[in-house]
Amino acid sequence: MATPLPPGSTVGILGGGQLGRMLALAAARLGLDVVVLTPDEDSPASRVVKQTIVGAYDDPVALKAFAAACDVITYEFENVPADTVDALMDLGAEVAPGPMALAVAQDRVSEKTFLNAVGAPTVPFEAIDRAGDIPAAAKALGHPALLKTRREGYDGKGQVWIERSEGETDAFSTIGGKPAILEGRADFVRELSVIAARGRDGEIALYPLSDNHHEGGVLRRTLAPAEVSRATAEQAERIAIQILTGLDYVGVMGVELFELADGRLLVNEIAPRVHNTGHWTQDGAVTDQFEQHIRAVAGWPLGPTDALRRVEMLNLLGEDADAWAKLASEPDTKIHLYGKRETVAGRKMGHVNRLRGPV
Ligand code: AMP
Repeated sequence: MATPLPPGSTVGILGGGQLGRMLALAAARLGLDVVVLTPDEDSPASRVVKQTIVGAYDDPVALKAFAAACDVITYEFENVPADTVDALMDLGAEVAPGPMALAVAQDRVSEKTFLNAVGAPTVPFEAIDRAGDIPAAAKALGHPALLKTRREGYDGKGQVWIERSEGETDAFSTIGGKPAILEGRADFVRELSVIAARGRDGEIALYPLSDNHHEGGVLRRTLAPAEVSRATAEQAERIAIQILTGLDYVGVMGVELFELADGRLLVNEIAPRVHNTGHWTQDGAVTDQFEQHIRAVAGWPLGPTDALRRVEMLNLLGEDADAWAKLASEPDTKIHLYGKRETVAGRKMGHVNRLRGPV
């Protein structure tokens, strides 16, 4: 791959959802073309890109055409099958972030093992392969403990709290009888995150922290920059740098953190992609996270991450987005809609960034 990729080059995106759409819009601003590979005939991303290859992620014909069309390939969701990335690399494609980041992020046990190994603290945890593993693990961790599927959980899905030892082995079937992780409870006072970027030359750029509010496991609201002490900001920065460096990462990553009452930060999870808690950067930072990710994977210098103003980001879930005309008439509200054809309760349809004044 020519570094940096000159304008007119083509960035491939695996996945056609809203993150792919916003990545594509950012790439277009830098003069880059985008080709999307998605099984969806009519995806949010496909309506703003040069070309969509409609195909399954394991379709060899689609993968061959995709690899041939792109100068670099990235992705907008972390559950891209490992075989897909292997196949693309075998075809000579340049893929960023690399397969190690995907492998670590796809499995909660590998993820926490990696995090601890690079000095990024997490809750204590135990791997659970069968229901019979739960009693000893719960005894070691204490109740309540949180049982989560190792793979493919998101937005709080595939999780169940184990409150007491009676009947605790039933929890395994509640989450589908799949390999799992049992986590000690984090007694957090706040959920924070840091959007972190690393370029091809190892340059690192970190955004000010986000202060995140979830309902029912789904992000509702982010306030940024979060009001944190210098010590907390430095702790988050240290953690992010250890993770990015440990993975030899290229691109933007979301690092979700628990802030404990004593000020310590634990990593909840990492997302090897642009992240919902970074949407505030579109209207609140010098370089937004989508442009930053494209810059990184295309081998461009990273852009400045300074906050321009305070922002309150609100996700528009389901029918929230029906209020688009009213939202569009509010002077301090920047509206971002994803072009999804069907409104489904709880589905992420868009978000707004409310401009809240000087930093
Ligand atoms: P996750 O899917 O792992 O991001 O979890 C979804 C949400 O569940 C998090 O944003 C937290 O609010 C909560 N949560 C996850 N893990 C823990 C834990 N070990 N202790 C307490 N709360 C947790």
